[in-house]
Amino acid sequence: MSDQGTGSWPYRRSRIDPTAPALGGDGDPIGYGELAARVDRLASTGIRHGDRVAYLGWNRPEAFELFFAVCRLGAVFVPVSPRLAFPELLDVLKDCAPAALFHDDDQRTTAEVASGGIALVCGPGGQHAMTEAGDTPPRRDVTLEDPAVILYTSGTTGMPKGAVLSHGSLLFNTVNQLAHVDVLSTDRALVIAPLFHATGLGQVGLPTLFKGGSLLVQRFSAGKALKTIEERRITAFTAVPTMLRMMSADPAFEKADLSALRYVVHGGSPADPRVVDAWRAKGVTLLQGYGMTEAAPGVTLATERTAAAEPRSAGVPHFFTDLSVRTARGGAGELWVRGPHLFTGYHGQPEATAEAMDDGWFRTGDAVRLENGQVYVVDRVKDMFISGGENVYPAEVEARLDALEGVRESVVVGVDDAEWGQVGAAFVVLEEGARLTGEQIRERLRGELAAFKVPRSVRFVPRLPRTPTGKIRRTDLVARLAREAPSDTSDT
Ligand code: ATP
Ligand code: MG
Repeated sequence: MSDQGTGSWPYRRSRIDPTAPALGGDGDPIGYGELAARVDRLASTGIRHGDRVAYLGWNRPEAFELFFAVCRLGAVFVPVSPRLAFPELLDVLKDCAPAALFHDDDQRTTAEVASGGIALVCGPGGQHAMTEAGDTPPRRDVTLEDPAVILYTSGTTGMPKGAVLSHGSLLFNTVNQLAHVDVLSTDRALVIAPLFHATGLGQVGLPTLFKGGSLLVQRFSAGKALKTIEERRITAFTAVPTMLRMMSADPAFEKADLSALRYVVHGGSPADPRVVDAWRAKGVTLLQGYGMTEAAPGVTLATERTAAAEPRSAGVPHFFTDLSVRTARGGAGELWVRGPHLFTGYHGQPEATAEAMDDGWFRTGDAVRLENGQVYVVDRVKDMFISGGENVYPAEVEARLDALEGVRESVVVGVDDAEWGQVGAAFVVLEEGARLTGEQIRERLRGELAAFKVPRSVRFVPRLPRTPTGKIRRTDLVARLAREAPSDTSDT
């Protein structure tokens, strides 16, 4: 049987045009012919069908080569965040039990200690590490049902879970993206969204390679990304909102020439409207996407036609994606998703998989609003709290808080209250030099929000705890509140 897997894509593209630029980092990209050859060289190894091969490191083109090689072998690629704390890394490695662990140069010590001797360098100089591991020729009987990657969820609501995505999931996600966005063979996309997160691989990255465009894969820094976009005439990229914020706050942003950009996809967490507006003011087409690791990742995407008129919308469902809104806790509308791009389960966690699935539907845990066919992400159902019988979505309160002058960012969590059941507790990061008291903030919010939504207490913090993909760890803040003595003061 022919190889239906994602690992055959470079080879298949190389038959169409071997010289077309395919993959690069800082320098000029190599062509599809060269990429296919490298992938097959890397895939001559002792790694077996079904083995897991982990990659601990930052974005670099060699990580993409490794991904394709692992897929070509019918093995499973497991990108792991270098931002994990050491015990978290051990948990992940124990969970996926890789046959080999590739790593970036700067992760050498961590990788060697964590892997107990199976660590291999990924990158220039380490290219042939897999070849030395054995001499079994690449398998060619990879099917769409075979697992391709295990991607760990962000761990926003608990321990990260390893979502198993098959080659079929990746293919259908790619088809979904292509049905939505006009990806071209002349595109030059920048991959700065982390590869250990579903956005790095599934949004823009794989769809661009499928169409024969080229990828520049770089570790993110705001200044470098802006420079690359300008100098290399980048036409597309995808980012989590924190990255867009860091780039628009960079001194180079104002003067940066972003005119080659055809579209930018952002998603993964709510985007600050001020940041979205700053990018739009530069003439950039921003498309909000909504999805999750389990969906490989796209569920909805804004269209170029409606994005400008509906900047807060996460767009419309993907081509092969079915949506259903079910009633959840407190009457919230929880989104359920079905489609051929869904994961096949959480690795080694049948109970968690069974809990997440219902007759082929994946329960996203997200509250959404549907309006004129557009999907608006409201908040996670879990984060909603009920105050005096009324539902409060922290995201709505945070959006108002963030819009106040002097506030950089904020988070609101529900805390138990004898009288109201639960009330809001806000954590606020102020802009540098801003002077605001908790009472002033509450006073301003009272003019904009119903009383039950106004946080009872406001705590000022220098920064918010975040996951490796820039999401706020609410659980850390809730734990912090539980440690504190009960208090009804509004400033601390
Ligand atoms: P975990 O599942 O481990 O708790 P996580 O859900 O944050 O972590 P991901 O799969 O990376 O892990 O993120 C998917 C979630 O991100 C979605 O379920 C949703 O809550 C949120 N999200 C994705 N896109 C958007 C968006 N455009 N706006 C708001 N939230 C979004
Ligand atoms: Mg999740």
